[in-house]
Amino acid sequence: MQKLAEGVHAFHSQYFATHRALFRRLAERGQHPETLFITCSDSRVVPNLITSTEPGELFIVRNVGNIVPDVTLPGGTAAAIEYAVEYLCVENVIICGHTDCGAIEAALKPEMLERMPLVKKWLAQTERLRAIVAERYGHLEGPEKFVATVEENVLVQLENLRAFPFVAKRMEKGELKISGWVFQIATGDVFEYDPAVGQFAPIGRPSIKPLAPVSAR
Ligand SMILES: [Zn+2]
Repeated sequence: MQKLAEGVHAFHSQYFATHRALFRRLAERGQHPETLFITCSDSRVVPNLITSTEPGELFIVRNVGNIVPDVTLPGGTAAAIEYAVEYLCVENVIICGHTDCGAIEAALKPEMLERMPLVKKWLAQTERLRAIVAERYGHLEGPEKFVATVEENVLVQLENLRAFPFVAKRMEKGELKISGWVFQIATGDVFEYDPAVGQFAPIGRPSIKPLAPVSAR
């Protein structure tokens, strides 16, 4: 806790001190983010950091497994999507999964969830994902299957997102773009789904070689 208190002090004396005008503008004029960013609660995924964005630029929704619940189910994620699309009129929605996602691991190994009934109930929503993975990726194992499932989960959530009538309507009008991303923790790479080729491809920069595992150094 002491670390966090020191962090608040450092934020105020450093970042805030050099961005006073930004915060004043945000306080006086409200938020006008262009992007709704839906990602996992995982502590290693830091949306503003990986997109080099400032306060006020991303409207962020996080939950376990970056899931967009079925359109018929009310809840915090659905409410945030409606608010961002209908009221804030964001122009982009990004659903960002990530490698080594605990939620996806649990979806593949439901026995992990016996001691976590609430997580189990939440991840029951991944039933369709499990069916798709069993059908298309039965030949894969280990890390390859894990990554394929992370990617497929993003695609399933994009489909769920399109089922919201106000999302579909703004997409039809050309006012809203939705994208699927995967953040690779070890390399810092971000991959975006390209519907034209049906694959995820890296955004932005050549890959930086990941460091050797800590145990090997
Ligand atoms: Zn995760």
